[in-house]
Amino acid sequence: MMSSNTNFLLSIEDLTVSFDGFKAVDGLNLYVGKNELRVIIGPNGAGKTTVLDMVCGKTRPTGGSIKFRNRELVGMAEHQIVRAGVGRKFQTPSIYENLTVFENLEVSFPRGRSVMGCLAFESTPDVVERIHKVAEDIFLKEHLDIEGAFLSHGQKQWLEIGMLLMQEPELLMLDEPVAGMSAAEREQTAELLKRVCKDRCIIIIEHDMEFVSRIAHQVTVLHLGKILCEGTMSEIQNNPKVIEVYLGH
Ligand code: ADP
Ligand code: MG
Repeated sequence: MMSSNTNFLLSIEDLTVSFDGFKAVDGLNLYVGKNELRVIIGPNGAGKTTVLDMVCGKTRPTGGSIKFRNRELVGMAEHQIVRAGVGRKFQTPSIYENLTVFENLEVSFPRGRSVMGCLAFESTPDVVERIHKVAEDIFLKEHLDIEGAFLSHGQKQWLEIGMLLMQEPELLMLDEPVAGMSAAEREQTAELLKRVCKDRCIIIIEHDMEFVSRIAHQVTVLHLGKILCEGTMSEIQNNPKVIEVYLGH
């Protein structure tokens, strides 16, 4: 498939990375459009996290291209990739436990303010407005004065998503965002993601198939660093190869 395509927000082509000769990701092509919510599934070790690591600049590919809004990300530093509009959430939440929800969101506003700096200055009205909007999106508007340490595991995960939303990324990448969440929290997270998917694209790695079926527009199945199959949830669920290597287990 050829594509010098500008319709996609993210175009990954022939992406490869070797760790000591082992190809964790092998010739991957992946195209994600604006307003799209893409889920990547696959067995452990398939290379899912490594794909996100390469997009956000944490791992340098051995070969291939990652174009975001037609701009090559390969070779850029992590902070430049963030500035280009890419937000990435890791598997474990990393919020500031001793700051309130409000302060956690405030320090995440992209103005290069440090944690210490933020406590010393009043936020401008536009920052406060964004904090309130994001807090509402992540179901924490009643909890703005609560310290991070007192949030439930699920609320911490939402807060971290909110911290990314403060930067208004055009590409949001989340690695297993509902791991450890209750059924009710998973439902709310699905609602949250569908809502914030507008005007950006989201890539989610997830194992919980019920959750995947709620949110995914398209599902990409990764196996041994390659795409095994790509399609809608029902296409994936009925694909014999996918059942054999993943869903059947
Ligand atoms: P997944 O997220 O699909 O479970 P990963 O992307 O974490 O899989 O890992 C894919 C493969 O690459 C695994 O075999 C893993 O051990 C290997 N791997 C990932 N990162 C590194 C690294 N930095 N150095 C060496 N091997 C790695
Ligand atoms: Mg992983």
